[in-house]
Amino acid sequence: MARIGFIGLGNMGSGMAANLVKAGHQVVAFDLSQAALDKAVASGSSAAKSGTEAVAGADTVVTMLPAGRHVRAVMTGDVFGHAAPGTLLIDCSTIDVATARSLGGEAEAAGLAMVDAPVSGGIAAADAGTLTFMVGGRDEAFARAEPILSAMGKAVIHAGGAGAGAAAKICNNMLLGASMIATCESFVLAQKLGLDLQTFFDISSKASGQCWSMTSYCPVPGVGPVSPADRDYEGGFAAALQLKDLKLAIEAAQSVDAAVPMGSEAQALYQAFVNLGGGGRDFSAIIKMLDGSWKG
Ligand code: NAD
Repeated sequence: MARIGFIGLGNMGSGMAANLVKAGHQVVAFDLSQAALDKAVASGSSAAKSGTEAVAGADTVVTMLPAGRHVRAVMTGDVFGHAAPGTLLIDCSTIDVATARSLGGEAEAAGLAMVDAPVSGGIAAADAGTLTFMVGGRDEAFARAEPILSAMGKAVIHAGGAGAGAAAKICNNMLLGASMIATCESFVLAQKLGLDLQTFFDISSKASGQCWSMTSYCPVPGVGPVSPADRDYEGGFAAALQLKDLKLAIEAAQSVDAAVPMGSEAQALYQAFVNLGGGGRDFSAIIKMLDGSWKG
């Protein structure tokens, strides 16, 4: 069993650390927030007083932090130069591809192995241990990371070299953002054209328009399987995080001169929704902006 230093015990990290403990790993946790740390201790981790203390003696370090700048700060401040040679670093945060790639190289130069392993699935999947991990890094590092990630998820997929996990994550989430908006506007149009929305769902979910945003996460209350729409768009995947991922995708697209017109439009629409106060709601709530019923 591994001795794991875990840094970043927020909404996602707390459930992930708890699942590592359940799988028999020894987890030493650190978070800047005392409340987050207390929660981790309650589910079986032991608390470190600093990032470097969590890293000391660990054979594996897992990070689950807000964005690229936090991951860089933790890696350069608490991990590189402090972790034992050969330590495996697993960054599960959603960060920009450039930082993920660069940190992979810097870790190697510091005598460490690193994978970027962002997740698909939200807080419920983190708690349940049913995340999907998309992993970038060398074969040897992936082979070491896989059993640890398996304790926190239902699927662990090797996407390629350093940064490939981050690239897969933002490409997937750009598609998700655009397909959710397309699904929402199709329902809005269907309603204005006088279609019964359940009937439209029954048709489109079996016809060529079907996609995950419709069949598994329908944005209309009472239609399709239970989704955040059925609880007034609370919980689920926050619109602010969808906007974050779209921004990362557009930034990456600019860096390689890729045309992403649908992704850019999705970013503009999610930005508008966040500006209207929708950032904390599930991302499917954007249907209320599109049909004009959003009241904030
Ligand atoms: P969060 O803000 O709840 O948790 C991040 C934690 O990191 C906080 O507790 C914060 O105190 C801690 N932190 C920040 N800087 C630190 C430092 N220097 N040292 C120690 N701790 C530090 O965020 P979250 O919702 O858990 O998301 C984490 C990552 O997962 C993000 O990159 C996010 O985009 C991604 N993600 C989130 C979801 C979701 O539904 N919440 C889904 C998929 C991916």
